[in-house]
Amino acid sequence: MDDTDLLESYRRFLADRVLPLETRFLAEGFAVVEPALAEVRAAAHEEGLWAPQLPRSLGGLGLPLAEFAEVARVLGRSPLGHYAVNCQAPDAGNLELLIDHGTDDQKRTYLEPLARGEIRSCFAMTEPGRAGSNPVWMDTRAVRDGDGWRIDGRKWFASSAEGAAFAVVVAVTDPEAERHRRATLFIVPTDTPGYRLERNLPVMGEAGSGWASHGEVVLEGCRVPAGTLLGGEGEGFRMAQERLGPGRIHHCMRWVGIAERALEALCRRASERELAPGTPLAERGVVKEWIADTAIELEAARGMVRRAAAAVDRLGSRGARVEISMIKVFTARVMLDALDRAIQVHGGLGVTDLAPDPLAWLWRHERAARIYDGPDEVHRQVVARAMLKRFGGTPGGSGA
Ligand SMILES: Cc1cc2nc3c(=O)[nH]c(=O)nc-3n(C[C@H](O)[C@H](O)[C@H](O)COP(=O)(O)OP(=O)(O)OC[C@H]3O[C@@H](n4cnc5c(N)ncnc54)[C@H](O)[C@@H]3O)c2cc1C
Repeated sequence: MDDTDLLESYRRFLADRVLPLETRFLAEGFAVVEPALAEVRAAAHEEGLWAPQLPRSLGGLGLPLAEFAEVARVLGRSPLGHYAVNCQAPDAGNLELLIDHGTDDQKRTYLEPLARGEIRSCFAMTEPGRAGSNPVWMDTRAVRDGDGWRIDGRKWFASSAEGAAFAVVVAVTDPEAERHRRATLFIVPTDTPGYRLERNLPVMGEAGSGWASHGEVVLEGCRVPAGTLLGGEGEGFRMAQERLGPGRIHHCMRWVGIAERALEALCRRASERELAPGTPLAERGVVKEWIADTAIELEAARGMVRRAAAAVDRLGSRGARVEISMIKVFTARVMLDALDRAIQVHGGLGVTDLAPDPLAWLWRHERAARIYDGPDEVHRQVVARAMLKRFGGTPGGSGA
């Protein structure tokens, strides 16, 4: 099967199996459609579409990042697309961490069931009391306790914490170390005494459920054995950054998919809706400008994300840092502008959840794209620093 066949298979899979569940998901939440999604996931296995990003040894398709990005674009058209084939955040990032750094025992206990889609996970780094934009500054502490560790702290925005079997928790193990060497990653099973999901955060008015939620997590005297330490002590910051590199490509191509759907919705509505008999909205110059600007910006975003994905395949996340920061800022903006214009052309219908495409839902849930995985301002700083370096300047500041 060549790439085009594969993308066509994903397109068909999305249209036939995932989109029919979308309306119920949007209206009633993730928990309600989870059983039906389990059947869709079984079909993804059978149809050879499971986990395109994972190596074949773990049951995936072993696609390089640049090829996976094209699949992510197709799947990104629906909020459920990535979940349906097990390449969804935050599990995709945790899978990568476990592949690269897990011990044999961790791979058996966590990686393999996660790869098979039998369990879910979350990643708990951000804290309510500290600026997440400065990921070397956090309060959650892990101290040695006999042959294990005791973790205390409060995390929030741990996406998909509800129903997760384990959390990858970032905790400071050596507050005296150089600031990039203070934190360590721990795999904390969510049934460990002292670990508690306190609530799902209301995001744009909706707390969500299960995989489609963002939790506030408390760790109080949470004791974990030594074998739960993931990677090396003091390696938490480096590993968390490494995890975010490919993750940003996944998100950006997903956003391109959303923007493509928004552009189609914009064109469809502009062609069908008449201002007067025989005068569709599409005849207005301003509407044509929205369409043209969205198409141009999307073309640029697609090209930039493809280039960045190829750079990550070639140079690794660190080597492609500037390209990643550029697409993170640009693609989030292109997607939100595309949604905004599509909503505008739908008029009142656009801000309801009754439009044929879930524009209002997507706008509510994707506004956060300019904040998570590093806010725009932090990524702009990375780009500006790289540019200024050419002129001999190396202005400081926190890195993305
Ligand atoms: C929907 C969603 C899902 C998330 N999922 C996860 C998850 O799964 N796990 C996890 O650990 N975290 C997650 N996060 C948290 C996310 O990574 C943080 O919100 C983000 O890092 C910003 O941190 P903060 O919210 O503390 O904002 P702050 O750090 O307090 O920053 C506030 C604002 O200040 C500005 N700012 C920040 N730095 C600079 C700078 N250097 N220069 C100029 N202006 C600046 C930006 O505008 C920024 O939005 C998620 C967040 C959201 C909204």
